[in-house]
Amino acid sequence: MASAAELERKLRAQPDCFELKANEAGKSDVWKHFSLIFEKDCDDLREMKYLCACNSCRRVYAYKSNEGVSFGTKNLLDHIRQCTADKSPKVQVTLPQCVLSCSVSSEYHMLPVVPLLFISSHQLIF
Ligand SMILES: [Zn+2]
Repeated sequence: MASAAELERKLRAQPDCFELKANEAGKSDVWKHFSLIFEKDCDDLREMKYLCACNSCRRVYAYKSNEGVSFGTKNLLDHIRQCTADKSPKVQVTLPQCVLSCSVSSEYHMLPVVPLLFISSHQLIF
């Protein structure tokens, strides 16, 4: 059985090998932010037992022990509060990164809003 850290790496490196599904049995609101993980195995989907992934950043957590005992949702709730992928970008932090990537790559076309923000703040400075 894969550890959470191992699976997290695989999930990010080979997202095509996995399918994320909502946990329909989960009653807590945290399940709106986390999905169950299924590994594609030819035509089959194999559930990665008792691991779930954050829908925003693909962070993997165990939600039950190997024996099927629930860990509760506290660590999942903690993650939702901290999850950086889910929050609107901090202007001061993302702008320099964006300017760098925009000038050297095609990411400009994927991030049309941020360069506009940069231009307006640029004009303000001058
Ligand atoms: Zn997350």
